[in-house]
Amino acid sequence: MPKKIAAGNWKMNGLRAALREAEAIADGAPDGIVTLLCPPATLLASMPGGLATGGQACHSQESGAHTGDLSAEMLADAGATYCIVGHSERRADHGERDADVRAQTEAAWRAGLTAILCIGETLEDREAGRTLDVLSAQLAGSLSDGATAENTIVAYEPVWAIGTGKVASPAQVAEVHDALRAKVGPDIPLLYGGSVKAANAAELFALENVDGALVGGASLTAADFLPIAEALAAS
Ligand code: PEP
Repeated sequence: MPKKIAAGNWKMNGLRAALREAEAIADGAPDGIVTLLCPPATLLASMPGGLATGGQACHSQESGAHTGDLSAEMLADAGATYCIVGHSERRADHGERDADVRAQTEAAWRAGLTAILCIGETLEDREAGRTLDVLSAQLAGSLSDGATAENTIVAYEPVWAIGTGKVASPAQVAEVHDALRAKVGPDIPLLYGGSVKAANAAELFALENVDGALVGGASLTAADFLPIAEALAAS
């Protein structure tokens, strides 16, 4: 059985005062699942114990002349054990392509981090009926042969559902996750991401091949995130 993972992506949100929320999340994290926060890198080294932590992106190289970038080794040095790679906001804002994401995934592995590889179709892809083809191509282009259940998590994040309040329906999520399960094998955890909230978490976690969620907006406070983690623990 894949591990169950409630992962929060704080994106570019969180000053030091937000560590209070991280502490409340750590205090209330349920047993039996991995509760993980990916805060801005400035907060990584100050995160409380009792939580797993991750970076939100990493450069493919270990060090060098890349102003403003962070290597996977730096994230690990600051306490991270996971790193998101290929988030659609990175693909859109920084022009990251599958080959870049593949190199970043390998960099995360090199530093001993578990890569949380994000893939997802646009609304245009979905309406054209090419969702599964697009996801297959992203997976093939960005995941190397060395992927295992220890070093890789795949997050299905439809671009049209991120930060929009539009959650994919259970039937849409089931169709994609069943197809992904057939591709990645029985053990790699599969997360859904896109406007997950306490109100819709339980029906998503009830699906056979959903092993947890990658949560943006609803991970910023303990009041919003803990009920999602609890719904996963109860699933
Ligand atoms: C995300 O950032 O990966 C995400 C799914 O965001 P939100 O939950 O806010 O849609």
